Amino acid sequence: MQTSEAFVGLDCVDCGTRFDPAEEPGRCPDCGGILDPAYDYDRVDLSPERLADREEESMWRYAELLPFPAEAAVSMGEGGTALVECPELADAMGVERVLLKDEGRNPTGTFKDRGQAAAMTAAVQHGAGTVALNSAGNAGQAAAAYAARAGLDAHVYLPKRAGFTQKAMTEVHGAELHVCDPVGGTSQIGDAGAAYAAAMDEHPDWYSTKTFVTPYRHEGKKTMALELLEQLDWETPDAVVYPTGGGVGLVGMHKAAVEADRLGWTDDLVPMYVAQAEGCAPVVEAYEAGADEHEPLADEEVDTACNGIAIPDPGASPMILEAVRESDGGAVATSDAAILDAAIEVARREGLEVGATCAAAVSGAFELAERGEFGPEDTVVLLNTGAGNKDVDALRAHLGEREAEAEEADADATET
Ligand SMILES: *Cc1c(COP(=O)(O)O)cnc(C)c1O
Ligand SMILES: [Zn+2]
Repeated sequence: MQTSEAFVGLDCVDCGTRFDPAEEPGRCPDCGGILDPAYDYDRVDLSPERLADREEESMWRYAELLPFPAEAAVSMGEGGTALVECPELADAMGVERVLLKDEGRNPTGTFKDRGQAAAMTAAVQHGAGTVALNSAGNAGQAAAAYAARAGLDAHVYLPKRAGFTQKAMTEVHGAELHVCDPVGGTSQIGDAGAAYAAAMDEHPDWYSTKTFVTPYRHEGKKTMALELLEQLDWETPDAVVYPTGGGVGLVGMHKAAVEADRLGWTDDLVPMYVAQAEGCAPVVEAYEAGADEHEPLADEEVDTACNGIAIPDPGASPMILEAVRESDGGAVATSDAAILDAAIEVARREGLEVGATCAAAVSGAFELAERGEFGPEDTVVLLNTGAGNKDVDALRAHLGEREAEAEEADADATET
């Protein structure tokens, strides 16, 4: 395996055992725990000064803090996304600055590209011929794209409710698309998960790039935090609000914030805030209950149009909750109506396009501001995890509903 200088192994987050990355492609063989890339930080030959001179703009700019060197990367220039000033939102929230980290500018339009770039690099290093995963949609599309880039076959298991764009592009990239809609199913991610698990049992040689099965997706996504810290000149923001499903991005960003702090690049951790939709908020509920892990929702209980965060059983919730508490962040859930209104608000006030899922971070930040969580001097970063045009159906439908309501109100007003 071609690994980077400081990468010393995979540590199980549950039993603490360290494994050789060449031997372990997935979860801990002893206890089933999540494996997390570990580094010898004394051997990380990188500093803010060295970074300032570096031309590489993709996420591989931070390769010294990734498991694989840039030369080995399966890459399409993912990362290096803009951190866009949102003065109108800052005014409306009563804070100094609101910045939107715009992950819509990635090759397949979401931050899932960072995770799949790292995981697909690992798949190639393991000599895999076929990769597989189940996904709510965006990770499947990203996997199809990166598998195409690496010359690997891919099997992508999506629930029927996944968006048209995600399904269509998965096939355009040449992956085998499995739309999972069993009789008596609910078309949630769990249905796709069951079909994926059955296929993996049949094909032990497939490499999984599923959430928190491969040890590398959160590792790829941690570059979002390294980037935004560098973009802020290593001044830590007062809040990062993140639309949370499985929590891969949040766990990864927190890991990067801990690393930057430990390396002396920053003075503080970055307060991480979980934003979810009220119709599927297991992490927010656990946070509010003071619990260390979530209670899964039944698939039938899921009630949100935000596909990317419709995750009723996020297995890594202990890591998410620990990240939130350790960083002194928080958690917030808002209604679909507030979320979709927020997406429209951003598009109209700032011109930026945020997806329906991502807008949970915007409406969540408004709710946190209302609760007095932010001060007038604060810098708040919103993660726009994906492009607005991935979720046009939900946004357009909401606009239609608002117009119908407004017309009804007008009609009522003329009658009286
Ligand atoms: C996958 C996804 C999320 C949630 O990601 P996690 O890191 O698993 O919590 C949020 N937004 C979008 C657009 C996504 O595709
Ligand atoms: Zn273990």
